[in-house]
Amino acid sequence: MRVLFAADGWDVWAPALREACPEMELVQDAAADSVDAIIYAPNGGGCDFAAYPSAKLVQSLWAGVERIAPDETLTQPLARMVDPSLEQGMVEFCAGWTLRLHLEMDRFAQDGRWRNEAVPPLASARRVTVFGAGALGGAVAKALRRLGFDVATWSASGRSTGDIPALAGQDFDAALARSDIAILLLPDTAGTRDLFDAEAIARMPEGAALINPGRGTLIDDGALIAALDRGHLRHAVLDVFRTEPLPEDHPFWSHDNITVTPHIAAATRPETGAPVAAENIRRAMRGETPLHLVDRSRGY
Ligand code: NDP
Repeated sequence: MRVLFAADGWDVWAPALREACPEMELVQDAAADSVDAIIYAPNGGGCDFAAYPSAKLVQSLWAGVERIAPDETLTQPLARMVDPSLEQGMVEFCAGWTLRLHLEMDRFAQDGRWRNEAVPPLASARRVTVFGAGALGGAVAKALRRLGFDVATWSASGRSTGDIPALAGQDFDAALARSDIAILLLPDTAGTRDLFDAEAIARMPEGAALINPGRGTLIDDGALIAALDRGHLRHAVLDVFRTEPLPEDHPFWSHDNITVTPHIAAATRPETGAPVAAENIRRAMRGETPLHLVDRSRGY
């Protein structure tokens, strides 16, 4: 079987993919009608999928597929990346920043002042809502629950994650109202864009904090800054932005109550991502339904 690799990172991905799937002939260029499957990420440039009529699968190397799903040249099934390292990375990112916000670590400056006025509450007194209960949101919710936080998830269908309270689409206001810390792990779709606008943010508790490793489009930037300026929100940790890299003159960079991280929350690693891609390509070759298929009508 011939698989076209159309993404950045050939030097690291090719050995891992060949090890995971020795029967695959991995190429960077091939006669269009000889390609059986395509491994793709937008960092390798655009792809005219219509030029590969015999390809049975497009396997994304990324979890977020908002730049692939709407592509009109795409007629093949599209699978997104669900990878154990991606999950572990996201769990570590969210747990780390949640603990920083929960313990108010930034209160303790090296300035000779003995700040013992208040002891932080235990995690059980801190309500964390994870918006998005998918592969990543579910893993983050479970990890935070293990740390003792009062966790709930919110998703369109109210998808459950073990016995963690699961709120559904219509419960958005209730989900906001219980968000001492909100973690956004939703995809970028028509249904999620600007979900966190001025009205939604105003429904969060006074002094709440927000962590966004989902997508920049989930938040109305101006509404977020206004809420931080008036003290309604105390801090936002932002990993993803409408424009990336975040422009140097963007007000997020200079805001005292915003932490900017450069889209590093979680990455697909070749050693764990390659076996996932290999398994999916084998499935497609056998005529079986690949795992983690994207529903293009929903956009994720
Ligand atoms: P999944 O597709 O597994 O889960 C998506 C979740 O979002 C589901 O629970 C889904 O609900 C919910 N959802 C989608 N649309 C809506 C809506 N309109 N209203 C309410 N809920 C909605 O995705 P993952 O968990 O794997 O990834 C989530 C996102 O994380 C990715 O799309 C990507 O944008 C981002 N990401 C960021 C990274 C980073 O480094 N910053 C790295 C990797 C991913 P339901 O369960 O009902 O379908």
